[in-house]
Amino acid sequence: AESAERTVERLDGQGIDIVRVGYPDLIGTERGKDVLLERLPEVVHSGVAFCQAVYYTSPQGDTVPVPGGLDRGLPDVSIRPDLSTLVELPWEPGVAHVLGDACDPATGRPFLESPRQVLRAAVARLADLGLTALAGPELEYYLLEPDPTPGSSSGWRRYDDALGNVYVTGRKGDRLSHVLRTLRTLRKLDIGVTMGNHEFSGGQFEINLHHSEALDAADRAFRFKGAIKELARHDGLMATFMAKPFDDEGGSGFHVHLSCTDAEGRNVFAADPGDEGAEHGLSATALHAIGGVLAHAPALAALLNPTINSYKRFGPDTLAPWLNDWGLDNRSAMLRIPPERGAGSRIEVRLGDASANPYLGIAGLLGAVYLGIRDKIKPPAPLEGYGYDAAKAPVLPMTLPAALDAFEADGELIEVLGKEFAAAYLVYKRDEVQRFSRTVTDWEFREYAYHL
Ligand code: GLU
Ligand code: MG
Ligand code: MG
Repeated sequence: AESAERTVERLDGQGIDIVRVGYPDLIGTERGKDVLLERLPEVVHSGVAFCQAVYYTSPQGDTVPVPGGLDRGLPDVSIRPDLSTLVELPWEPGVAHVLGDACDPATGRPFLESPRQVLRAAVARLADLGLTALAGPELEYYLLEPDPTPGSSSGWRRYDDALGNVYVTGRKGDRLSHVLRTLRTLRKLDIGVTMGNHEFSGGQFEINLHHSEALDAADRAFRFKGAIKELARHDGLMATFMAKPFDDEGGSGFHVHLSCTDAEGRNVFAADPGDEGAEHGLSATALHAIGGVLAHAPALAALLNPTINSYKRFGPDTLAPWLNDWGLDNRSAMLRIPPERGAGSRIEVRLGDASANPYLGIAGLLGAVYLGIRDKIKPPAPLEGYGYDAAKAPVLPMTLPAALDAFEADGELIEVLGKEFAAAYLVYKRDEVQRFSRTVTDWEFREYAYHL
């Protein structure tokens, strides 16, 4: 690896004078500081100090009593940048961006609650089985524009909604050519963006990322979300990855394609070439991975569907899931097996919504895949045809509190991801549920204020 001093020289030659040091917090928001280039070696060596906001501050600035935060008097965390993640920011001339972990300032080791560390823990368990996990993230999002309509409740409406539903049509007529410009800019960010399209609903888009090793894939998904939000702000718009921003429009998914390779780089989800009897053309390992995801799906929802709002995306006929099931190239199932076989054999988990912290969502999935392979969990028969019949498969948790309870009850998954992480996550998310339960919503006012 390149030394910090050499990196400084190289960046200086490229006209960079500031390095933005960022890290993902528990909910997947980026926190960071901008560091003058000449101070980078010092920061690489001893870290940059932050108040421990990562574990106790909500996006609204509410303090959350997570163990190790408020109760210890808001101590420092130290962010140690990982220079292998350094990229130039195409929209911010002179600025490079590097990712790091929240570390204990005394030991320099990542906190067990640091989302990148939680993911490393899951990756390590698969490595114990001789496996390397590959992940390919797909993210959907809405673009919003300021809504000048008097009385508009949020002040935002769907961007260029007059275009209506133009799901993957050739029509590209939005006024900012959003997909074209975004693809070109993100190519320069070098995060493996492959293609993009308009999604089902007006103002909704999807951009796909190439697959790679799990931590790198999560880093790229995390950076992608930050980039989309930042670029939208530059256009006077807001991009949102919230799960279900509108009652009557599609939710935004975070579909994750997963496969595993062995030490020789062979995809272990592929059936052996000579094995005519392989079920569905997949290996036994792939079926166990599917079994693991289904067995742990109620707990996974706590990570992949992490907000109160997430559960409004679930439902029949949404292409978002509702039942805990799987199918062969079937988009009405929670887990789809794409049609490719051989080296392209993989699973697509459609459970997650775009609001998920990509590190925690992928960590949870790898944990479930690991448990499925370790415990040789056999999945039930796949869903046949288009179907959302609750008589045929269990319904997923339909609220955040139900998913958090399922997560807390899943001792095996928690053992893989780490007890410290699970404890902090549950406190944070239950506090979120509490804060919501004390909030009077617009709906309550409309429903009750006049008549009652
Ligand atoms: N928007 C859907 C979801 O929330 C997915 C639609 C699609 O398959 O592209 O998962
Ligand atoms: Mg889509
Ligand atoms: Mg998909």
